[in-house]
Amino acid sequence: MELRFLSEIGADFVFAPEAKDGLRPGRRGEVEKSAIAQTAAADLVRKPDLEMQRILHALEEKILSCTLCPLARGRTRAVPGEGDYSASLMFVGEGPGADEDVQGRPFVGKAGQLLTKIISAMNFKRPDVFITNVVKCRPPQNRTPFREEIEKCRPYLLAQIECIAPRVIVSLGKSATDFFHPAAAAISGLRGNFIEYGKILVMPTFHPSYLIRNEGNKEIKRLVWQDMQKVMDVLSRK
Ligand code: URA
Repeated sequence: MELRFLSEIGADFVFAPEAKDGLRPGRRGEVEKSAIAQTAAADLVRKPDLEMQRILHALEEKILSCTLCPLARGRTRAVPGEGDYSASLMFVGEGPGADEDVQGRPFVGKAGQLLTKIISAMNFKRPDVFITNVVKCRPPQNRTPFREEIEKCRPYLLAQIECIAPRVIVSLGKSATDFFHPAAAAISGLRGNFIEYGKILVMPTFHPSYLIRNEGNKEIKRLVWQDMQKVMDVLSRK
């Protein structure tokens, strides 16, 4: 499904000929079954950056005019995500809020300001990482996105991950973490331990909005910082 999506937007050249061969009858099922977790972005020969940029721009255009789910009707602007297309670190949140909906940029409200501080504390500049969400349009009253909405939006995030191929993804909160590792467990039980997602390591942690809601709770802040230190440790290795 994901591979078909890329080819629909004319981005199938992201795959090397060998990988494309996998789409021939006889091997189609095998390739389609293996979502990104199994095929692993790194198993596909990456094309030069210019082509990746072209694919990511095409994706953004597609997102900006997307009408695949009812969230499209309530949005001011879709929010594809922003940052460095060759980032080694990606942050994935839940979905745009009111400020993001107006500006068309991810994490620019109160939670975004906190995320920006966390990124700086990790010795990164915000433009050096890539920031996006599991759904690209604001859910009404900032409610948690429905499963069907996340499913419709899923190919966009998969394609972004495939193209950018970060080494580490930080999943912020339960919706983002579920995207990579659907589990009944609460985020408090998942955070702090890397999830292997193909060759990418996903670090679940608390959403910045949760930190804001629990502003006086130093323990939550400490745990988030502990998680980010693990991320920094991985990224500091060759
Ligand atoms: N802003 C975003 O872009 N995503 C969230 O999950 C919350 C706020």
